[in-house]
Order: sequence, then structure tokens, then C-alpha cells
Amino acid sequence: MYKIMTPGPTQVAENVRMARSRECTNPDLDESFVEFYKETCEKISRLLKTGNETLILGGEGILGLEAACASLTEPGDKVLVLDNGIFGNGFADFVSMYGGVPELYTKDYRETLNVQELAEYLKEHHDYKYATVVHGDTPSGMLNDVFTICPLLKQYGILTVVDSVSASFGEPLDIDACQIDILCGGSQKVVSAPPGLTFVVVSEDAKKAMAERKTPIASFYANLKTFEHYYEEKWFPYTMPISDIYGLRAAIDNIEADPDILERHAKIAEASRKAVTGAGLKLYQNSGFSNTVTVFEVPQGTTDKAILEGVKKDYNIMLAGSFGVLAGQVIRIGHMGNNAREDKVREVFAALDGTFKKLGVSLKGSMEQIFVDSL
Ligand SMILES: *Cc1c(COP(=O)(O)O)cnc(C)c1O
Repeated sequence: MYKIMTPGPTQVAENVRMARSRECTNPDLDESFVEFYKETCEKISRLLKTGNETLILGGEGILGLEAACASLTEPGDKVLVLDNGIFGNGFADFVSMYGGVPELYTKDYRETLNVQELAEYLKEHHDYKYATVVHGDTPSGMLNDVFTICPLLKQYGILTVVDSVSASFGEPLDIDACQIDILCGGSQKVVSAPPGLTFVVVSEDAKKAMAERKTPIASFYANLKTFEHYYEEKWFPYTMPISDIYGLRAAIDNIEADPDILERHAKIAEASRKAVTGAGLKLYQNSGFSNTVTVFEVPQGTTDKAILEGVKKDYNIMLAGSFGVLAGQVIRIGHMGNNAREDKVREVFAALDGTFKKLGVSLKGSMEQIFVDSL
């Protein structure tokens, strides 16, 4: 087995794997499962500091993004798509798929969204039903400031859909303070459960927008309204993936029992960035550094494939390259959830030291040493 140090999926703790192997009941008929589901949802809401309702959907992270867009978009709706990263850009597809008119607000992928600039833009352009915002744009390691962006949009009555799949629980987040209308999370990033589940946290304003639609939602599986009365009616729209949810619950319990989780992510991320720059390599971003993933440029004289193969073959560690416009350009180290551990990240930098040496790329210092010294 490889040590999976990718920016998701992450390594899954033993108690989560054990929880997934528990005996199953019939989740449609056993009312105790409805209670368990609701309790798990309430825990997620509480940890993300909101009274808004969480729904766990049976599908990987992408389902949450699509469900948010499917449920809010009516044909002809204008949607502001904040695009300073690959997932940011990708929202435009979900918007147009459901008949909306996406308006791309495209900015430099190396910079966090400039809130002043956005505020200026909104003065002239604010006729949008909702906006899409990526909290942590994983392919480039970009962090956007949802604490200022989302309330700014809300001042204009613009609802916000936030992709926090790779950020939530690893970055500070307060859904109520941010006034986020639909927050999307996933099981396989910081949460550190296997891929397969997404959760959405839905505000009363978002529910109102869905209730006031003039046209039906053009989906069943991505229709958030189908969950509307699940608790009162003890009825889910489809049979819930019960083992996945047992695992998710154990992973959420692990997070709840770990009060230092945010501090640890911040500390490890900062030391990782120092290891990269101290060794003479270049971080991809100029601003907006995510605490869950570190992204650096492939140095001259080698390739992403050679680096990834080197750490895999000689050190049994799996890192990631990137994709889309970033394909071939960068290496990504995931240090999220269970992988935000000093010993694990130290091993990654030791492996990179050795791999660069073998590839004939000279560094200004040992990444491992700089990492350890910076903790
Ligand atoms: C991982 C991730 C998702 C889910 O997408 P997959 O590529 O299918 O795992 C969505 N948004 C962001 C920002 C992610 O990092």
C-alpha cells in the first residue's frame, strides 16, 4: 500500500474503516437510522458553526456542487462564477447545464480573490441570483477569503454556493458569520473518510429560493428539495449508503475529538511552504495559501512524472500532479485531515530531497531539515 499524501483522497483511520464494516440495518425502514443520519448532520452543522441544515447525499463531492446548482438555477438565471482556479471555472458548466447564464469573473490563478476589486465590480454588476465561490481551489492550492467575499455578495442579495470540499475542517470556517447559503463538503478530503459522500449545508434563504421557483428542478438525484420532509416522514428519497454514513460519522467524531485540528493544519502548511521556498523551489501561488495542500512548480530540468514516480517507487509515497491548465506544471502535497501530521509530512520532504538528488536537481537546502526546523 502506498502512503497516500495526495490532496484527497486521504488516508482513512482504522476506526473509520471499522465503522464501515458494521452490520447494516435497512436504512429505509429502521427509524433508528433516520435518527443517526440526522444526528450526524447536526454534528456537521455544529462543527461548521451554523444552525443551517446539513444533508448528506449519496455521491462523491461533485454531487454536492451539482445539486446546489441544479436546485437553485432556473432557466435564464444569471449566476456570477468567481473564477481564480480550476474548480472555480468548472462551476460555469453546472450553471449552464441547468439553463442558467454563467458570468465568469476570471482573475489570476496565482492570486487570492481581491475583495476590494470584487466590491468595485459589484457596484456596477450585481443582478445575479447567486454566486459560486471556491473556498480552497485544490488543483492550485488557492484559498479564498469566504469571510469577506460571501457577506459582500449577500449585501446585494446574491446567494452564495461555496465549494469547501477540500477546505472545510482544515481551514477556519463559520457558516453563519460568512452567511453562506449552500456550503458543499466531501468525505474524502480533510474529513478523511473514503470517497463516496458529499454534504451540503443549506440556509433558509436558499430553501426559500428553491420554494419560490417557477420551474421544477431538472433532476432527481441532484434535487435538494427531495429531502425536504425526510425526518418527519421518516423517508429518504433513495436508499441511503448506510456503511458510508457509518464511516463518515466516525470520521466526524474524530474531528470533534480533535480540538487542535485547525492549528495543526496551519502549522504544518506554513512549515511546508518554508521547506519549498527554503530549498529554492517556487510555490505556485503568490497569495492565498491553503492550509490543506502545498503546491510548487516543477523545477527546470525535470518533469512532474519523474518526481511523482521517484517518490512512489523509492519511498512508497503517492503525491499528485495537477490537471487542466496546470497539467505538468506543479506537484501537490496533501497535508489534510489524517495526513496533517508532522511525521507523515516530514517523510514526504525526505522523499523529495532524495528524489531531487537522484534526478540531478540541486536544492538550496534539505526540505526535510527546513520543514522540521520550521515547526
Ligand atoms: C476534491 C474536490 C472536489 C470533488 O471532486 P473530485 O475531483 O471528484 O474529488 C470538489 N471541489 C474541490 C475544491 C475539491 O478539492
